[in-house]
Amino acid sequence: MIHLENIQKSYFMGKQAIPVLKGISLDIFKNEYVALMGPSGSGKSTLMNILGCLDSPTAGSYILNGSNVSTMTDDALAEVRNKEIGFVFQQFNLLPRLTAAENVALPLIYAGIAKKQRLEMAREVLAKVGLADRSHHKPNEMSGGQIQRVAIARALVNNPSIILADEPTGNLDSKTSVEIMELFGSIQAAGNTVVLVTHEEDIAAYARRVVRLRDGLVETDKRREMAAAH
Ligand code: ATP
Ligand code: MG
Repeated sequence: MIHLENIQKSYFMGKQAIPVLKGISLDIFKNEYVALMGPSGSGKSTLMNILGCLDSPTAGSYILNGSNVSTMTDDALAEVRNKEIGFVFQQFNLLPRLTAAENVALPLIYAGIAKKQRLEMAREVLAKVGLADRSHHKPNEMSGGQIQRVAIARALVNNPSIILADEPTGNLDSKTSVEIMELFGSIQAAGNTVVLVTHEEDIAAYARRVVRLRDGLVETDKRREMAAAH
C-alpha cells in the first residue's frame, strides 16, 4: 500500500541544498506494524512527513494505495491526507480549551459532519482507546498517557488506512509507553497499518518489523537477507 522508490529530500538553506534523504526505497504493506529507528538527524521525521503527505519529496516516487502522491498538487495532497492518514505527534498537539471528545471530533469538522454526530463518533473512538469515562475532561485534567490516547483517538476518528506516529512515546514513562505500544498493536490487529518512530529498542520490539535509517538511506536488514538466502 506504501511504495517508496528512490525518495530523496533536500532542504534548501539559501541556495545550498542539504540532502537529508538520499534514495529511500521501501514497501510497507497493508496491516503492517512498523517501527522506524535511526540516529537523531537521520531523517526519520522528514520521512514521516512525506509518508503523511505533509511534505513532498525532492525526487523519487511515492505510491500510496495505487496513487502517485509525489506528483500531486498541495490541494490534492491535503485531500489524500484527510482521507487516508492519521498522524500522532510526540507533543500530543491537543487544543487545551477543548474537552477530549471535542479534540477527537476536530477532523470531522472538515469532513462536514454535524456537531452532534461528531461528538457521538468521538466518544465511540474514545471508548476504543479505553477512555469512555474521560470524554468531558480537558487535557490539563488528564495524565500524559491519557492525553496521548486522546491524540490517537483523534488520528483514528476519520477511519484512515494508515496511522503514523512520530515518537508517540517520547514524552511518556516506560510503563505508559508500553501501554501505548500495545494500543497501537490492537489498532493494527483491527486492520490498520501503523508506522511509528522510536529511539528505544525495547519499545521498537513491540512492532512487527523494524526499519532503520542511517545517513539518509534504509539500512539493509542483514538477518532478513540471510533468511532469504537460505
Ligand atoms: P530526531 O531523532 O532528532 O527527531 P530525525 O531523524 O527525525 O531526528 P529530521 O528531523 O528528519 O531527523 O532531520 C533530518 C535533518 O534535516 C537534520 O539535519 C535537520 O537539521 C534537517 N532538517 C529538518 N527539517 C528541516 C527544515 N525544515 N529545514 C532545514 N533543515 C531541516
Ligand atoms: Mg524526529
